[in-house]
Amino acid sequence: MQDIIFDIIEKELHRQREGIELIASENFVSEAVMRAAGSCLTNKYAEGLPSKRYYGGCEFVDEVEVIARDRVKQLFGAEWANVQPHSGAQANAAVMLACIKPGDTILGFDLSHGGHLTHGSAVNFSGKIYRPTFYGVRKDNNLVDYDQLREVARREKPKLIIAGASNYSRDWDYVAFRQIADEVGAILLADISHPAGLIATGLLNNPMPHCHVVTSTTHKTLRGPRGGVIMVGKDHENPMGLKFKDKLRKMSSVLDGAVFPGTQGGPLMHTIAAKAVAFAEDLQPEFKSYCEQLRTNAQVLAALMVEKGYGIVSGGTDNHLFSIDLRSKGLNGKLAEETLGKAEITVNKNMVPYDTESPMITSGIRIGTPAMTSRGCKESDMHIIADFMDRALMNHDKEEVLKGIKGEVQEFMKAFPLYQ
Ligand SMILES: *Cc1c(COP(=O)(O)O)cnc(C)c1O
Repeated sequence: MQDIIFDIIEKELHRQREGIELIASENFVSEAVMRAAGSCLTNKYAEGLPSKRYYGGCEFVDEVEVIARDRVKQLFGAEWANVQPHSGAQANAAVMLACIKPGDTILGFDLSHGGHLTHGSAVNFSGKIYRPTFYGVRKDNNLVDYDQLREVARREKPKLIIAGASNYSRDWDYVAFRQIADEVGAILLADISHPAGLIATGLLNNPMPHCHVVTSTTHKTLRGPRGGVIMVGKDHENPMGLKFKDKLRKMSSVLDGAVFPGTQGGPLMHTIAAKAVAFAEDLQPEFKSYCEQLRTNAQVLAALMVEKGYGIVSGGTDNHLFSIDLRSKGLNGKLAEETLGKAEITVNKNMVPYDTESPMITSGIRIGTPAMTSRGCKESDMHIIADFMDRALMNHDKEEVLKGIKGEVQEFMKAFPLYQ
């Protein structure tokens, strides 16, 4: 029997092949990663940790998980890792469960400036269970305001400070974060979900020596399967106020316990296998070239949009993404997302800092180059993509023109095969 689901998956494959994918949090995994993710390991229950499981028959999945942990530690220079979180949100939930108590104050990057839901949104566990406070970017240059961060930290006395965002195009000063965290006695968490690949390859600052705990997703710039990871670096001195002799061991066991049984049941061993395969790919020199190319692509694309009269939040990008402020063109995020969608260019609308539009409309769109770089796009292709985007946006009310651009987009993407 041919389940209709497989027909739908085929349609999704065609959609992924044909369109220009600019969603900054998406990527295309290798066939090896997909093979591991679609393997028989999905059948296995393995609650617990390697060699300390609650189920029999774990000898092979144990090997897989040990290799996954070793590879991710090597990738980031971590001392300890847990590769079981089902997602980035799960990783952050486990860290908060481990490090702070209900009602404690947390200090995260303002959601309307590009922060993540799990950093204190009112509709998320992080904003319901804990008391959220925020720092943000300066109004004049849209860069993280470290003076304001210090001021809010002194005033609010957070137990946990989170460095990281879903939409910030500049690098982070983890040394400054650590000084402020130490001053107020807070645990410092770096959430590197977005730029993880660029950090692993040395293109951006590595938080590992400066932060108590680091979380990441594995499916964004790391180009792995959908999932999360928690890591602890060399600096694990007295986090959480622990006075134990072997602090790393104590801290890691608290974090392990917060993942399972704290917030999860059985780990997704097929996903952990796929993470291991992706981490091995990320350790290759080719992955560094990939990250260099995706950053160059982002910088070239941002510069081209500026030339065409669009505003770029924070004035440019150090990583894989940037936000276009559409107000100089009299457009909004909702209209731009819909218009580009009609031309088979996928982006997401986004609030810009100090936005004058509602979250449902927004003044911006977020653009990322990881997916298109995985398809093989180079600088010269960015010129073509910028041209498609500008032409579509300038003709947002002309359905015929948009249809024509969609045809051109599909033709263009034929040069970049996907899963043949
Ligand atoms: C994407 C992201 C997450 C969450 O990842 P999910 O796997 O979607 O739960 C967490 N933090 C940041 C900063 C992110 O960008």
